[in-house]
Amino acid sequence: MIDVLIVGGGGAGLRAAIAVAETDPSMTVAVVSKVYPMRSHTVSAEGGAAGVIADGDTLDEHAYDTISGGDWLCDQDAVEAFVVEAPRELMRLEHWGCPWSRERDGRVAVRPFGGMKRMRTWYAADKTGFHLLHTLFQTTLKYQEIVRYDEWYVTSLVVDDGRVHGVVAVEIRTGRVEAIAARTVILATGGCGRVFPFTTNAAIKTGDGMSLAYRAGAPLKDMEFVQYHPTGLPFTGILITEAARAEGGWLINKDGYRYLQDYDLGQPTATPKLRSMELGPRDRLSQAFVAEQNKGRTVETPYGPVVYLDLRHLGEAKIEARIPFVRELCRSYQNLDPATDLIPVRPVVHYMMGGVHTDLHGATPVAGLFAAGETACVSINGANRLGSNSLPEILVFGARAGAAAAAFAREHREGEAAAVRSQGADEQRRLRRALESGGTGPRIADLREEMQHTLEGAAGIYRTHDTLAKAVETLESLRERAADARVDDHSTTFNTELISLVELHAMLDVAETIVASALNRTESRGAHQRLDFPARDDERFLAHSLVHRAPSGNPSVGLLPVALTRWPPGERIYGRD
Ligand SMILES: Cc1cc2nc3c(=O)[nH]c(=O)nc-3n(C[C@H](O)[C@H](O)[C@H](O)COP(=O)(O)OP(=O)(O)OC[C@H]3O[C@@H](n4cnc5c(N)ncnc54)[C@H](O)[C@@H]3O)c2cc1C
Repeated sequence: MIDVLIVGGGGAGLRAAIAVAETDPSMTVAVVSKVYPMRSHTVSAEGGAAGVIADGDTLDEHAYDTISGGDWLCDQDAVEAFVVEAPRELMRLEHWGCPWSRERDGRVAVRPFGGMKRMRTWYAADKTGFHLLHTLFQTTLKYQEIVRYDEWYVTSLVVDDGRVHGVVAVEIRTGRVEAIAARTVILATGGCGRVFPFTTNAAIKTGDGMSLAYRAGAPLKDMEFVQYHPTGLPFTGILITEAARAEGGWLINKDGYRYLQDYDLGQPTATPKLRSMELGPRDRLSQAFVAEQNKGRTVETPYGPVVYLDLRHLGEAKIEARIPFVRELCRSYQNLDPATDLIPVRPVVHYMMGGVHTDLHGATPVAGLFAAGETACVSINGANRLGSNSLPEILVFGARAGAAAAAFAREHREGEAAAVRSQGADEQRRLRRALESGGTGPRIADLREEMQHTLEGAAGIYRTHDTLAKAVETLESLRERAADARVDDHSTTFNTELISLVELHAMLDVAETIVASALNRTESRGAHQRLDFPARDDERFLAHSLVHRAPSGNPSVGLLPVALTRWPPGERIYGRD
């Protein structure tokens, strides 16, 4: 039997696998991934990974920036552990071969990033995730005990009596459905940006792990906090990394004016405003875009209103040296050269602050079930993640979850539970029924599109009670219709239509929890802005939203106090000094 089964071959999953192998070489580890690990979304991270290393910087400052950036919704004990371990993890990656960019004297180079007062973002040009994931992947190859199930899709967790016993998964190539027994399971399935229509997220980011945990009885936390990134390409949603602004890029409106100087981004007045305003936090920058749009100062395009990112003054040499991938993306997907042309951009769904509720070691309330990475909510990101905190997060908490799962597996040596076989057979029947369905039911793609537009309309940058309440009804009706969705492809070989049906069900779970949590939080904080409740309300809502799946199948939202250690809630102040 497998000791630790990891669902996900991205940064969090691979880091967890290495941690298990390093902790105890006698353990068996399985990494199950719906795509080949190097295709996980981590590969597309561009800008960098934060960790204190530069002279003059301190762990406390990194912690403070993270906590104030998260609008005081971060658990401060988690943040304290995170800032200590982040530089160690990044250095470990260096030893495993990650080619961090360098200063002339050979030291690791760092760049500024949004909401960070000091330069602490390590980078490998603007292909940080690519190098980071390669480094982890090649390191896993050292360990014989790590077995991989590439292109296997996990459809459910085997849970009996509050304890996880393994997973049921489909081998996508053959359609074979298998129950895999395991002493512990770590969910490292990444985010859920695809519940929205316009996102930087890869097509595989459908919130599967959140839904798996939710259905297994583990609550989801802070699901209403969805991050918009201010600079996506208008047609594709492809991300233009914050590094472009860190290197000195400007955001200008249709009049060529750097409009951010008109907005309160939380900078102290003493900072040189014009230098730091493009590096304000993502939530505030996205909200400023909407305000510009309302003033008629954005540019209309067939793909929605845009503003411009101006990199021309950086010059070709700097663009090539520091952000070559930005140039490559602009040329390939927007048919322009940022050295000479303005880049049209608009806010785009980018990251999920919420996720599976875990403790500091990745443990969920379901015994033996752990979660790490973007699918989890520890929480270090609170109401708004700072750019470049996610890559170190997947390393720090991936490693912690791996070590904790290994310890759990060591203490629980019982044999395979009967539930593995019975729930495996149930799941096999369910999938066969779905495969054989057909006829006149609604199309999966139509339902997905309706769900995405419902979410954008109700749970976008700004929300209100009425739009959210209406979305609850639409999602209920979508849920009913999805039960009859038709699958036209009845083959068992690479049946991606069947997979997209399972993904649709997962996304509907996630969508429902986002809307229910947003409806319940009658205040504005970070990325959650309620037009009908514009102020932050610490008295009632200095608390995480915790959403359980009620016996009726509907989401039931409660609150959990935030862990405060040394930083009492205050105003959000940013800007580099
Ligand atoms: C374009 C882009 C740029 C970014 N840039 C940065 C940056 O510069 N700095 C930063 O800190 N953060 C950045 N982020 C955020 C960061 O990259 C992600 O949050 C992080 O990489 C997530 O890692 P993960 O391991 O949790 O998940 P992922 O890398 O998304 O991996 C998820 C894994 O789960 C598997 N999986 C999912 N569902 C199933 C299932 N049902 N069955 C089997 N396997 C499954 C997938 O196959 C995949 O292997 C960026 C994100 C994007 C989208």
